[in-house]
Amino acid sequence: MTAQNRMEGDIMEGIKRNILLNPGPSTTTDSVKYAQIVPDICPREEEFASLMKGLREDLVRIVHGNQNKYTAVLFCGSGTMNIDVCLNSLLPEGKKALIVNNGAYSARAVEICQYYGLPHMDLQFPVDELPDLNMIEKVLRENPDIALVHTTHNETGTGILNPVREIGELAHRYGAVFTVDTTSTYAMRPIDIERDNIDFCMASAQKGLTAFTGLSFVVGNRTIIENSKDYPKRSYYCNLFLQYDYFEKTGEMHFTPPVQTIYATLQAIKEYWAEGEQAKWKRHTRVFNAINKGLDELGFRQVIRPEWRAGLVSSAIYPDDPSWSFEKIHDYCYERGFTIYPGKISTTNTFRLCALGAIDEQDIYNFFEVFREALAITGVSVPVRYNLNV
Ligand SMILES: *Cc1c(COP(=O)(O)O)cnc(C)c1O
Repeated sequence: MTAQNRMEGDIMEGIKRNILLNPGPSTTTDSVKYAQIVPDICPREEEFASLMKGLREDLVRIVHGNQNKYTAVLFCGSGTMNIDVCLNSLLPEGKKALIVNNGAYSARAVEICQYYGLPHMDLQFPVDELPDLNMIEKVLRENPDIALVHTTHNETGTGILNPVREIGELAHRYGAVFTVDTTSTYAMRPIDIERDNIDFCMASAQKGLTAFTGLSFVVGNRTIIENSKDYPKRSYYCNLFLQYDYFEKTGEMHFTPPVQTIYATLQAIKEYWAEGEQAKWKRHTRVFNAINKGLDELGFRQVIRPEWRAGLVSSAIYPDDPSWSFEKIHDYCYERGFTIYPGKISTTNTFRLCALGAIDEQDIYNFFEVFREALAITGVSVPVRYNLNV
């Protein structure tokens, strides 16, 4: 069989459907996968550039932003690029950033500040607790040179939901810009950019939109971007104003866009509107509930208490069973089309099951059948055991 034949065969038979329970990239629909297969086109053609305008407006619409007040700025890269862009571009000379940090993704924001040498405060809270608003306010009151507050909406490392509306209210009361890493909530958990007191939110196409890696975007306040024109220029490729300005003047990305990913994202957004914000959030909730039910039935403990969960990521603690092997369980599930993912906290060994992609509760029931088999075959006793009664 030639490669060409094989490809045609695969397309006719459909592509194997894997259930990704990792925190992105997420399971996509076949229609989104195929949307990438288009005639070759130079992205500088008018035909392509015109697609970008509608895309940018849709990205603002998804968070209910007023098109005059908010805009979407696209970048070619994975989601971390957005954090980089916002932090390096939106901090005026002589001011500092405050990172409200209760997890791995806010810790990444702190590292970005360190790499750029940005003056910043790393306000740390335990990974399984909500940030203390009184403490945030105290820090803002005592540090009038804080010009930017950043945090993560759904801390994907654990699945905790941070109170962004309240943190944003505080940031604004003390005259700071509020940037939020919404990569793992955008287009899943409904966001209202203005009501949630967010100046800048962000995501990448491979998470809630269920398209592919390569397209990332910041949705934010035009005036603040325009005011940042003369802020210190700390990056060339990742400068927010430069990219925004190029879009405003030409309608295009400054440098080569991820062409195929953009076609897929356009299809994914069509499917987003067809499903609807509320119905999609309900589906994610159904999936999340099925995940929690499955974990509960097996006796797994989780890191985040139920009322603080963002409803998209479950973070389960490894049982104290000498037979437990995440790798073996992972491999057994992976061979059967289900991907589970290790955790991202240093204090406890965890694994994560996420409700991100184009999946529904039946996929989770199917997963737990396989997962149960994996536990049985590797000799892990069910319900799982823990030594300490925490
Ligand atoms: C996935 C994710 C990112 C981006 O990670 P990349 O590996 O760069 O795509 C950033 N923030 C959060 C909260 C995420 O969940």
